[in-house]
Amino acid sequence: MPFSSLGLSAPLLVAIKEKGYTSPYPIQQEVIPAVLKGRDIVGIAQTGSGKTASFALPILELFQHRKTNRNRYVRALVLVPTRELAVQIEEVFRGFGSRLDRQVKTLAVYGGVSINPQMMKLSGTDVLVATPGRLLDLLSSNSVQLSEVEVLVLDEADKILNLGFQEEVNRILALLPAKRQNLLFSATLSGDVDELMTKVLSDPLKITIQEEASVPDLITQVAYQVEPEKKGPLLRYLIRQSDMQQVLVFTSSIRTADNVAGKLQKHGIEAAAFHGDKSQGGRTESLKKFKAGKLRVLVATDLASRGIDIKFLPYVINYELPRSPKDYVHRIGRTGRAGSSGEAISLITPEDAHHFRIIQKKMGKRVEVLPTDDFDLQGQ
Ligand code: AMP
Repeated sequence: MPFSSLGLSAPLLVAIKEKGYTSPYPIQQEVIPAVLKGRDIVGIAQTGSGKTASFALPILELFQHRKTNRNRYVRALVLVPTRELAVQIEEVFRGFGSRLDRQVKTLAVYGGVSINPQMMKLSGTDVLVATPGRLLDLLSSNSVQLSEVEVLVLDEADKILNLGFQEEVNRILALLPAKRQNLLFSATLSGDVDELMTKVLSDPLKITIQEEASVPDLITQVAYQVEPEKKGPLLRYLIRQSDMQQVLVFTSSIRTADNVAGKLQKHGIEAAAFHGDKSQGGRTESLKKFKAGKLRVLVATDLASRGIDIKFLPYVINYELPRSPKDYVHRIGRTGRAGSSGEAISLITPEDAHHFRIIQKKMGKRVEVLPTDDFDLQGQ
């Protein structure tokens, strides 16, 4: 099925082609026509399924013909759990909207940076992509109005609720007009999400794309047995041996992320840490460099395991295993995306062996744990 059969007009088809998409992903085939018809949607889908384009394209299609809205009265509200996701979605809207006759203005607003520049840019915004806390700040200063919202998107609804934004979301929902279209996306269907769905959606079309905890076949998984004190040298050995030029390394704590990045730097491998204690500016900067292939290693906590879309990331390394098998799948899902293959490597200490077996059982895939005795780790 080609993109041209989904009801999208020529300027969007041109932008899609320029982006290099040849055919729509399953979620796009189902969601785009349904949104154009005005339906509410529940999409059970993870990052990587193509869900962003599935809501961005029909919203742009619908909005391109409308007259400019009243100042500060946004037309679509996209609520997201994290700043990174907000920025990413804004980019998708802007990219696809680049060819439209009438500009559909999209703006991302999120906390951790000063509010004034965001306030100044709000004027004329059609699509507002926001984290809940910052949106409430903007609402309380009357910088934005939600009473004319036509489309509400709740993206990664499970994560929004897990992060404790329930009350904020309820306050925001109370400000929206009753008549509107609602699109809700979530990787899982927890009890909380279910409750939110009942509250928000009306007769939704339900689409399930990827089974939870399933691993795309494009990802090769490998594990190496290692004593805790040899993890650093093994990491450097693997990076050098395979000449990895773009690798995302996961740790469980902020401290370890800082330590690992510091050690890599000391050994001449360009690296930066990426976690919640870093300033927003620092995070944006290192992610930008990493995405552009100008930073060899990004050492991240699970903050980066969801929602961050890095095209063609060839390597993910679990320096430490995550506690939950679901997080393992999210982490390694950063590679092998959009049709390109990738390798996910886990460093397994004797203490991790049991937990790693549980992870494998949960995802339904066996991963061989290879010995590292023969590796020459001296001088690493
Ligand atoms: P998402 O799930 O929205 O984060 O999208 C995951 C990745 O798939 C992003 O890199 C998109 O650019 C890419 N993508 C989405 N739809 C398509 C498509 N139809 N063809 C090729 N790549 C796509």
